[in-house]
Formats: sequence, C-alpha cells, structure tokens
Amino acid sequence: MGRVRILDYTKNPLELVGEVAAICWDSEPSAGIAKHCLMANHTRTFEFVDVVLELDGYSARAIREIYTHIIGTSRLQASTRYINYENMDYFIPPKISNNSEALKAYTELMEQVKETYKILAALDIPQEDTANILPLGHTTKIAFKINARALIHLAHLRLCSRAYHEVRQLIKDIKQALSELDNREDGQGWDYIAYHMTPKCVSLGYCDEAKSCGIRPLKKEII
Ligand SMILES: Cc1cc2nc3c(=O)[nH]c(=O)nc-3n(C[C@H](O)[C@H](O)[C@H](O)COP(=O)(O)OP(=O)(O)OC[C@H]3O[C@@H](n4cnc5c(N)ncnc54)[C@H](O)[C@@H]3O)c2cc1C
Repeated sequence: MGRVRILDYTKNPLELVGEVAAICWDSEPSAGIAKHCLMANHTRTFEFVDVVLELDGYSARAIREIYTHIIGTSRLQASTRYINYENMDYFIPPKISNNSEALKAYTELMEQVKETYKILAALDIPQEDTANILPLGHTTKIAFKINARALIHLAHLRLCSRAYHEVRQLIKDIKQALSELDNREDGQGWDYIAYHMTPKCVSLGYCDEAKSCGIRPLKKEII
C-alpha cells in the first residue's frame, strides 16, 4: 500500500500568494487576493507555493504516469542499480486480489521474478542488468516536488474517473495528507489548496471527455 510523507512545504501558502499578487496592483496583501487569483485563473501566483513529498510503495507503473507531469515538478527516484530488489514489493490490483485464480497466477509470476533476481545475483550479474526483469507493478519510492498550480492541474487530470485507479488513489492520498497538514482554523492553509484538488469536471462545471462518468454533464449537453 502506498504512503505519502510530506518532507517540506511553503508555510502560510495563501498569505504568500496574496503577498506576491499584491505586487501586481500595489495593494494590501491578503489571503482574499489569493483566493480571487485561483477563482479567476490567475494561477501563475500559485507557482510560488511548493510542497516536497515522499511517495513510497506505489507501483513503478503509477509513478511512470506521475512522471508525465513535467511543468512545475521535480523528482528523484530510488535507483534500480544501487538498491537490491530481490525482495521487491508489488502492487496487487483489487480485481486480481478478489479473484483467487487470478491472484495465484499473478503472485506466482511475481515470486518467480524474485527467484530469478536471486539466481542472476548468484551468477554475478550486476543489479543494473538484473533490474530489466522488474515488472511495472513493483513498488518504488520517489521524492516529488510540485508547486500548487501544477498540483491542482495534476489532480484535475488524475482524479478523473478515466485515470487508473491506483493513480487516483495516489492523488487522493496526497490530498488527504495536505488537508491534514497545517490544521488552521481560518481554513487558509494547505486545506484550501487540497479542497481545490478535484477532478477537472468539478472545476469546469462540465465533462470534456467523450463519455461522462456522471459527476458532471457532457460539455455538448450544456453548451
Ligand atoms: C486518463 C489519462 C490517460 C493518459 N494516457 C496516456 C497515454 O496513453 N500515453 C501517454 O504518453 N500519456 C498519457 N497520458 C498523459 C498525458 O498525455 C499527459 O502527458 C499528462 O497527463 C501530463 O499532462 P500535462 O501535459 O497537462 O502536464 P504538464 O506536462 O505538467 O504540463 C502542464 C501544462 O503546461 C502546458 N504545457 C506543457 N508542455 C507544454 C509545451 N511543450 N508547450 C506548450 N504548453 C505546454 C500545458 O497547458 C499543460 O497542460 C494520460 C493522461 C491521463 C489523465
């Protein structure tokens, strides 16, 4: 099971956005200005707010999808050259874990990968070469830095029901961790940013995919 750990984050994010946005109008900084910026899509201002996360125990396949998000992000991943994966953990999708026959076939293959990893090690094959046998389902760890603008964009795409369920869960885990982060009574901390981590249709008011899952109507139905 994947885990999200917050390593560092911008303290008082809305105050900071209010501060930088106030420069534009030479006005009094306030968290209210920050909220206006988000509502009006002046989201450059939210690039000043960062969070650094450790994402651990998600499949290499899910992390590969996170890697497609380039703008406003930075990452480092556990090496398959320097780290020994003979006891690799692996993700088991619910549809497999709930089907005993499928689970048997799946786990047998994964256990075979581990066995082969050990055989190759005993034959002095370096880890960097043996790593080619690791399946996309093996779990990995990354450090992931992302700014608040990119984070909301990431959630818009990856909380959509068209995204893969493990990736959706990963984003939900990030959202949960951020919503509990600074526990401010004024609701102007990271909980405000977490609140805006929604599927894109919630922010758009309509679904721009070919088929709607039903949360919002299709664009062509309302425009
Ligand atoms: C359901 C789903 C299925 C997917 N399936 C596939 C797949 O089968 N294969 C695959 O390869 N990927 C797939 N992707 C990944 C997808 O194509 C994007 O690469 C990924 O979601 C990152 O989105 P992004 O480009 O908006 O993010 P970022 O790269 O972070 O970019 C953020 C925003 O910056 C702007 N931007 C970024 N780069 C440029 C540029 N070069 N020029 C101008 N503006 C730019 C755009 O407005 C962009 O939306 C899938 C994504 C989803 C959500």
